Amino acid sequence: MKISIVGTGYVGLVTGTCFADTGVNVTCVDIDNDKISKLKKGVVPIYEPGLETMIKTNVEKGRLHFSTSLKESLEQTDVIFIAVGTPPGEDGSADLRHVLAVAKDIGKHIDHSIVVVTKSTVPIGTAEKVRKTIREELENRNADITFYMASNPEFLKEGSAIDDFLKPDRIIVGTDDDEADRIIRRLYKPFLLNNHPIYFMDIPSAELTKYAANAMLATKISFMNDIANLCELVGADVNMVRQGIGSDSRIGNKFIYPGIGYGGSCFPKDVKAIIRTGNSYKYPLRLLQAVEDINEDQKRLMADKVKEYFNSELAGKTFSLWGLSFKPNTDDMREAPAIVIINTLLEAGAKVKAYDPVAMNEARKIFGDNITYGQDPYDVLIDSDGLLLVTEWPEFRIPNYNVMRKLMKHKVVFDGRNIYEKTEMKENGFDYFGVGRSLNESKLS
Ligand code: NAD
Repeated sequence: MKISIVGTGYVGLVTGTCFADTGVNVTCVDIDNDKISKLKKGVVPIYEPGLETMIKTNVEKGRLHFSTSLKESLEQTDVIFIAVGTPPGEDGSADLRHVLAVAKDIGKHIDHSIVVVTKSTVPIGTAEKVRKTIREELENRNADITFYMASNPEFLKEGSAIDDFLKPDRIIVGTDDDEADRIIRRLYKPFLLNNHPIYFMDIPSAELTKYAANAMLATKISFMNDIANLCELVGADVNMVRQGIGSDSRIGNKFIYPGIGYGGSCFPKDVKAIIRTGNSYKYPLRLLQAVEDINEDQKRLMADKVKEYFNSELAGKTFSLWGLSFKPNTDDMREAPAIVIINTLLEAGAKVKAYDPVAMNEARKIFGDNITYGQDPYDVLIDSDGLLLVTEWPEFRIPNYNVMRKLMKHKVVFDGRNIYEKTEMKENGFDYFGVGRSLNESKLS
C-alpha cells in the first residue's frame, strides 16, 4: 500500500512514521522547504520522544520519504491524509485555508481513484467542503475520477505521540462509502491486533467526536482549576480534594490536576472552534464558554500571585522560570501559559531568566532577546527574586535546596504544577505558593 500525508508537523510526521513502520510506503509532504530538507538530511524538526530513531529506521528501509511536491507524492497513492494545521481564525472558528488549499491541489493532480482522509481537527462539514473543492477542480479539467472521502481525527498527545498512535485508545473513522471503509480498515489493521477499538461512523459524527473529546478534557481541567481557587479561599488543599473525588470510579483520577491553565496547539483552539460551531447553529455552548473564561483567568494567576507577594513592585526584579513548553516532553510553545506569565512580568518591568530542557529554541522565536536563557536550572537562579515552576519536567522534581538557597536573592517559589510540598519548602527556607493549596490557612475571617 502507498499513502501520502500532507502536512509534516506533530501529527503528520508521527502518523507517517508509524504507518511506515507497518510496512506501508509513505511520503510525507509539506510546503515548508526548510522542514523537508532537514528531514531529508535526517534532522527532525520537532522534539518527540522516540521519533528520531523511528524515522531513521524507516527511511533506511526505504519506506518513508519526504517531499515538497504533493503532485509527485500522489503517484500510485491509495490514500492521502490531510494533516495540515487548522489554527483559530479571528472569530475563533477553525481556519480551513490550509486544508482547502490541499484539497484544491489534490483535485488538480489526481489521476486515479483515491481515498482522501481529513486527519486535521476540522469542524463539522469540512469533509464535505473538501469533497466539493476536489470535485470543482476535477470538473475544471474535465476529469472523471472517483475519489472517496473519510474523516479520521487524530487523538495522539505530544510527548507520548508514538505510543498513542501505535496503541490508540480508539480509532475514529467517518465514512459514507464501503470502499473507503475497506481501505482504511486494512491500513489500520496492524494497530488493532491488541484489541484497540476502531469505530466507524458517519462523517459529521467523526468530526464532532474530536471536538467533543478535547472539550471534555478542557472542561475537566477548568473544573479542577475552579475548585483549586475555591480551596485557597476556604482553607482546603486541592490535592486532598482531588484524591477524594478521583477515587470515585465514575469520576476517575486522570486529568483532574489543577495548574496554570491548559495550553498547547489543541485545547485552546478546539474549545474556541466548538463554541463557534454552537453559535453558528444558534446554540451557545455555555458550559464551554465558562471553561474558556476560567482558563484565561488561570493563565494569569501565577503572575498575579507574584505581583501580590511583591506588592506590585516588580520593576527591576529578576524572576526565574523552570519550564516553558505547555507541558513536559514537548518543545511546543503554542498557547503555553509561560507566554502569558513572561509577558506580564516583562510588562511590569521585571527581568526574566528561563530554562527548559527542549523548548528554548521555540521560546527564542517568541521572546528573542527579551528574556535570558539559562544553561541549566540553577544557572537561571543566580540573583533571582523568585522561582516560577511552570512546566513539570521530571528534572525539576527533586531540586537541590542548598544550591537554590545560595543562588537566589529572594527565597520564594511559585509552583504552578503542585510538584513541591509546602512544608518541605518551608523547612528549606522558602516561601511557597502552589495552586489551591492553602493548607488550612483560610482567607475567611
Ligand atoms: P503543525 O503546525 O505542527 O503542522 C502542520 C504542517 O502543515 C506544517 O508543517 C505546515 O507547514 C504544513 N502545511 C500547511 N499548509 C500546507 C499545505 N498546503 N501543504 C502541505 N503542508 C502544509 O500542526 P500539528 O500540530 O501537526 O496539527 C495538525 C492538525 O492536527 C491540526 O488540525 C491539529 O488540531 C490536529 N491535531 C494536533 C495534535 C497535536 O498534538 N499537535 C493532536 C491531534 C490533532
